[in-house]
Amino acid sequence: MSGAEDVNYYFRKAARVMDLSTRVERMLVTPFREVKVDVSITLDNGELGTFIGYRVQHDNSRGPMKGGLRYHPSVDMDEAQGLASLMTWKTAVVNLPFGGAKGGIAVDPARLTPREQERLTRRFVQQIHDIIGPQRDIPAPDVNTNAQVMAWIMDEYSRMHGFSPAVVTGKPLDLFGSRGREEATGRGVVMALTEYLADAGRGAVRGKTFALQGFGNVGSWTAHFLHEHGGQVVAVADAGGGTHAADGLDVPALLDHARAAGTVAGFVGGEAITNEALLALDVDVLVPAALGGVITEANAADVRASIVLEAANAPTTPKADELLQTRGVTVLPDIWVNAGGVTVSYFEWVQNIQQFSWDEDRITSELGRHMRDAYATLARVVRERKVSFRTAAYIVAIGRVGRATTLRGV
Ligand code: NAD
Repeated sequence: MSGAEDVNYYFRKAARVMDLSTRVERMLVTPFREVKVDVSITLDNGELGTFIGYRVQHDNSRGPMKGGLRYHPSVDMDEAQGLASLMTWKTAVVNLPFGGAKGGIAVDPARLTPREQERLTRRFVQQIHDIIGPQRDIPAPDVNTNAQVMAWIMDEYSRMHGFSPAVVTGKPLDLFGSRGREEATGRGVVMALTEYLADAGRGAVRGKTFALQGFGNVGSWTAHFLHEHGGQVVAVADAGGGTHAADGLDVPALLDHARAAGTVAGFVGGEAITNEALLALDVDVLVPAALGGVITEANAADVRASIVLEAANAPTTPKADELLQTRGVTVLPDIWVNAGGVTVSYFEWVQNIQQFSWDEDRITSELGRHMRDAYATLARVVRERKVSFRTAAYIVAIGRVGRATTLRGV
């Protein structure tokens, strides 16, 4: 299955449980707008660099569309479609007044100089500026994009449309960013797990063992908060390799190492481990926090963790999801678990529009409220309908988006 088919599979599974009408189902799966643009730039050596950019806007019935921009060779229309619809369901699960979008550029930014990355970003904005905006579609960081990229987007958009900090979120703190945004997704991931463990009577993060795939923004902050809560992170892997210590990695030292080396590989406090071996480790919780489609039909039987905490977007394919469920593994789904990022992005957008800034305590407490409220709703649906957390999350999201769509009409 492709990325978009995976998300639509989960959507349809929930739609069947809900007995959703065909009319509403068709309205909800059809994307609002899909754009594919040429993002050619002059490279530093004078040659032409040609890249393709994508933006898919899935649904705006609950508000302006929101979703990350990814710079990665795997970016294509199908991936953007799948991730855009995922954003519609995610913003609805945590009850934000947004719809879903996603996009990016098919490029390996590590092969570009910072000046080339800036030209590429500005060119992309020139190509899509008329379909994004504070009340239309608000991009954010995702794989290989960061606060600097968001600053360039804000600047380029503002040149054309006047001062518009609310056009993107995830900006630097010195340029209308929000306190707590950088760590928001990882913080939310650990809040989600804590809520579930307490409610399910499965103890606390303290003393549990964790294996994490991915050590970028989401993975590194998740490791930080797990460590802070007394969790034992025994293995971490990224695109450069992995590191493993059965009695727990020294997370602060690993963060320092990864910052300096650009990868967790080569960390002196652990033994090398491959990404495949990490997925099969005998730990309490497996945390995919890198790319999508990593837990598949081929390796789901090897997963020994009893909880899969989906920090990445779409890390589990539908077949793998079924296999894990049959084996009694609890999968806590992406559209709730990693929603902390878009939730604090929403706070950033609100602060930009109000030209007012919140302190960190307020951000953390409002984030906690959104994650807890979402969990309470999901847990109720799980109990009432006897479905998985993923299906419950889709039921809640489809209900909210479906009602807004129906009320607005065609
Ligand atoms: P990032 O670019 O900061 O980090 C990505 C990490 O994945 C890096 O450690 C990289 O080395 C690793 N990686 C890449 N290819 C890999 C491979 N083949 N095998 C193992 N590791 C690999 O990206 P991020 O922002 O941390 O995003 C990670 C995931 O979380 C993505 O699925 C993203 O969509 C999702 N997400 C991000 C946010 C956010 O706020 N940044 C919010 C919600 C969801």
